Amino acid sequence: MKNGVLEHYKEYLPVTPDTPMFTIGEGNTPLIRAANLEKDIGCKELYLKFEGCNPTGSFKDRGMVVAIAKAIEEGSKAVICASTGNTSASAAAYAAYCNLSAIIIVPQGNIALGKLAQAIVYKAKIIALDGNFDQALNMVRSITEKHPVTLVNSLNPNRIEGQKTAAFEIVDVLGDAPDYLFIPVGNAGNITAYWKGFKEYHEAGKAGHRPIMMGFQAEGAAPIVLGHPVEKPETVATAIRIGNPASWEKAVAARDESDGIIDIVTDDEILSAQKLMASKCGIFAEPASAASLAGLIKMSAQGKDFSSKKIVCVVTGHGLKDTDIVLKSSEPFLELPADLAAIEKGIGLV
Ligand SMILES: *Cc1c(COP(=O)(O)O)cnc(C)c1O
Repeated sequence: MKNGVLEHYKEYLPVTPDTPMFTIGEGNTPLIRAANLEKDIGCKELYLKFEGCNPTGSFKDRGMVVAIAKAIEEGSKAVICASTGNTSASAAAYAAYCNLSAIIIVPQGNIALGKLAQAIVYKAKIIALDGNFDQALNMVRSITEKHPVTLVNSLNPNRIEGQKTAAFEIVDVLGDAPDYLFIPVGNAGNITAYWKGFKEYHEAGKAGHRPIMMGFQAEGAAPIVLGHPVEKPETVATAIRIGNPASWEKAVAARDESDGIIDIVTDDEILSAQKLMASKCGIFAEPASAASLAGLIKMSAQGKDFSSKKIVCVVTGHGLKDTDIVLKSSEPFLELPADLAAIEKGIGLV
């Protein structure tokens, strides 16, 4: 792979001779075979697209590099976003690299600490809003209508353009699209982006078919499944704690055009999928990222036959961003003095 998303996929991106070309290492994330889970789930091949390997630890970097490059091309000096955490971490990092200022509005008390630490260290201007994500996004929209700052939420079409490169990478590695793509759904930009990517690669003859799109929302934040906005979304999966997704219609189009579904997983299902992914595959995902695997496990438990299918679950962000949830539910571990005999006994070696 050439250097970064902009350079590698430029013919599919809104890159012009005036677009600054740079990277801090986004893209080219691993597609990891989850062999230990295939038998239990009953599928032929299962892969995890681990987007936690991006420079700020989530897929947001793919879209952000394009959004920031275009903002610079258009002469912008500042960017702004509303964020449940990962968009702000990414915006702040790319703005820092490019000498732009980043303003981020986060819902107070509802952002994982690792993500907040990222925004702080990258020196973003942080506003903690007494309100939820949907209200933060409304503020940001109003501000960008009045002031010369560039909006870098996924309402910015350049974000979707960059994020679609993850679909390209999957096809480039597998040689074709998978049969199914499982993906968490929050503000619904990512499912929109993947579907766009798969369609474009299919039209370009790079893929022989398009996957069935399987989106999953958290039970307490499932507006698309319910068919109406959720005023007070609640879930441990803070990255998908969104009650009124910006890309609602496009997500529904991705579902319907692909003969897919958008369904619900509970917080318990999300957390047990997170643990399973870590303990069986060595991949530590943040809770929202495990909604894809949780959805697959749910479908398989309901009797859906995947025995001849090739499946990709998108693992959207890194678990190190949100360690609280794991530490809170951990079993107590042995505390022992520095005494060899006691430790051998504790381990069970004697
Ligand atoms: C942003 C994000 C999501 C949700 O993606 P949408 O495009 O908002 O649907 C899921 N998981 C993680 C880790 C995220 O950062």
